[in-house]
Amino acid sequence: MSTATAHDIPFFPPDLFDADLDTLLEVVHATGTGAAQKFILGEHTARLERVLRDRLDAADVVACSSGTSALTLVLAAMDVGPGDEVVVPAFGCAPLAATVIARGATPVFADVDPVTMTMDPDAAEKAVTGRTRALMPAHVFSVMADMPRFGELASLYGLRLVEDSALAQGGTLAGRPAGMWGDAGVYSFVQVKTFGMPGEGGVVVTGDAELAVRARMLRNHGQDGQHRFLHHQVGYNSRFDEVMAAFQLHRWEGFEARLARRAEISAYYSRRFAPLVENGITAPPVGGDGRCHYVYTLLTERREELRSYLAARGVATHVYYPRTLPAQPGFAAHAPAHGRWPGAESAARRNVSLPLYPHLSDAQVEHVADTVCAFAEESAR
Ligand SMILES: *Cc1c(COP(=O)(O)O)cnc(C)c1O
Repeated sequence: MSTATAHDIPFFPPDLFDADLDTLLEVVHATGTGAAQKFILGEHTARLERVLRDRLDAADVVACSSGTSALTLVLAAMDVGPGDEVVVPAFGCAPLAATVIARGATPVFADVDPVTMTMDPDAAEKAVTGRTRALMPAHVFSVMADMPRFGELASLYGLRLVEDSALAQGGTLAGRPAGMWGDAGVYSFVQVKTFGMPGEGGVVVTGDAELAVRARMLRNHGQDGQHRFLHHQVGYNSRFDEVMAAFQLHRWEGFEARLARRAEISAYYSRRFAPLVENGITAPPVGGDGRCHYVYTLLTERREELRSYLAARGVATHVYYPRTLPAQPGFAAHAPAHGRWPGAESAARRNVSLPLYPHLSDAQVEHVADTVCAFAEESAR
């Protein structure tokens, strides 16, 4: 296996910010020595919020301490609390369940489509009861949730729509950006996300100016930004870091180009992998509409074989969420004991993600694709 050492393609690249390290050090120095000694919620944070707001044509963007915290602020701004139910996907990341539970409300797990891995609108509709306050679909890995359908359901049943777009920044569906489909959406800036940074942070994005006012207060202990130590409501500490804001403003310049490179790699993978469905490997759809380019996720029953085949040829992979949310010990008490979520179970069993980041070279991308295709061919014989 002569190719084993020719490539070493990590799944989590260690050099995401190498090109911007000088800027990082500069903003640390400038912030640290600045006369204002302003380390949180200063002018850089405000400018980052404006830049994103203008780009999205949103009513407001509220920077906060993480994607998880952004979801919490949205739920709190909507007054979701004890006695309320929020319909969430049965497959996805922990905050989908944990933020609802932490508000004292109940997550109701709806099954996901086994191929898109996003919440199935029909299953979500069946989960609606008289106590339901909100629907909270999430975009998953490479594909956006069916937001038009969730929008219809939300208006039909008079529910709030929270869009967990934490991983989908830059994605669009029918021309509308991910994050702008619900009453509010969120982005996470954790390292590996499309607009990731070397630290923790996120934003609430919304077309609802009133909800934004509440989220803004909630992120800083219920204060309104004018009157210090006047707490209008029970809030959180979910403030944004000035060093990171300054760094993100710098990184914003290259964001479109990095997204375009992600989309290009993703499109190439999809072209190469589309025929593999006959060999039991399902790839995300070809084309950019309704897609996000966070990671590139395949589905296969032969996941472990594929992973070791790729690993032996220098390609690292990753399995997100090997368990469904209702099967998590921390959330099981909130799930019906004999509930079944076959789509979620299938997704948890079959998903495997390939490297997808802008500084992959063409040769590396080709090597990943060639190796996946070679696996499919060999195992078909
Ligand atoms: C990353 C992510 C979050 C959480 O964001 P953090 O910034 O890590 O708190 C929430 N939902 C989804 C779908 C995510 O991918």
